Amino acid sequence: MNTRNIATKYIKVNPDRPATRAMEKAARILKQGGLVAFPTETVYGLGADALNAQAVASIFEAKGRPLDNPVIVHVTDRMQVTSLAQQVSGPAGMLMDAFWPGPLTLILPVLSGVPREVTAGLPTVAVRMPDHPVALALIRAAGMPVAAPSANISGRPSPTTAGHVLQDLNGRIDAVLDGGPAGVGVESTVVDLTLPVPVILRPGGVTPEELRGIIGEVEIDPAAGAGSPGARPRSPGMKYVHYAPRAPLVLVEGRPEDVAAKIIELAEEQRSCGKRVGILSYQGGKDLSFAGEVVLAGNRKKPETVASELYSALRRFDELGVDLVLAEGLQDNGLGLAVMNRLRRAAGGRIVQA
Ligand code: AMP
Ligand code: MG
Repeated sequence: MNTRNIATKYIKVNPDRPATRAMEKAARILKQGGLVAFPTETVYGLGADALNAQAVASIFEAKGRPLDNPVIVHVTDRMQVTSLAQQVSGPAGMLMDAFWPGPLTLILPVLSGVPREVTAGLPTVAVRMPDHPVALALIRAAGMPVAAPSANISGRPSPTTAGHVLQDLNGRIDAVLDGGPAGVGVESTVVDLTLPVPVILRPGGVTPEELRGIIGEVEIDPAAGAGSPGARPRSPGMKYVHYAPRAPLVLVEGRPEDVAAKIIELAEEQRSCGKRVGILSYQGGKDLSFAGEVVLAGNRKKPETVASELYSALRRFDELGVDLVLAEGLQDNGLGLAVMNRLRRAAGGRIVQA
């Protein structure tokens, strides 16, 4: 891979009322085909002009992203979608009314004119309207739809701060807009509306329960829920190991008390071989700090707090330099589904039943 070495501009912005000058500066970079990382309500995105094939190609180069993994196009108004996709009415319209701007990505039939770098050659395109003043101001100032995957090196945990973005992409992108920490903390929910029954390809900030409340029947792609090894994912991105800290991560699932006991057992085993063990845990459970380096990600009874702190917790293990991470599993309901999907994928198959 051709690693670029450019001076990445750091631009601090007020997350609620970003200054026009800063937005115009960033928008100019996008218009010239450059790459700008920006905060959204889910995670930081790495943006490029969605209608400039060369600019979108450079996203893949900067991230080391596999070329068959399409990117989400971000818009500021629904009119912009009509130039990218068909069938913007019906269930799509109902979901836009209910959840946009917000953490919901819709897969719709693509219109011609959208570069194949965006869709990875699929007949569909992913679109969403982010709920963040900086993201919306940037797209508006640029006057174009903005293609933006998460602003991390492919495979690493997604960035929830500008600092995370720079850890991965400093010298490889033109600018980062620092608007403070992203709120939701996990990516958008991806729903395919081109199938007879809408299917969740990736669980995220909008829960299955919330979607069903608006459009009724919604299925969950087997590869998106349990991440079952045999399931062939419909969303290309779901087939890669993802969200992983540098040390191997083992996910322990089961009833909370059994999970804690299993983690203590595994931690002792590993420590007796001289390994430094990290433990991903949550507030409101058993204190495991005697068994390894514990990092707490939110409160186990409030999955939204876990979602918001998950990726920085995973990156924390890199700083601690542990040899192995043992992660406690959580319940699959509400935002817990998105959290467990990310942990299962970070584990890349290393899942233990307690
Ligand atoms: P990222 O933006 O890196 O967080 O990932 C975007 C996710 O959306 C990946 O899992 C992609 O595979 C998925 N995606 C984007 N476009 C499409 C599409 N046209 N069909 C199915 N999945 C898509
Ligand atoms: Mg990503």
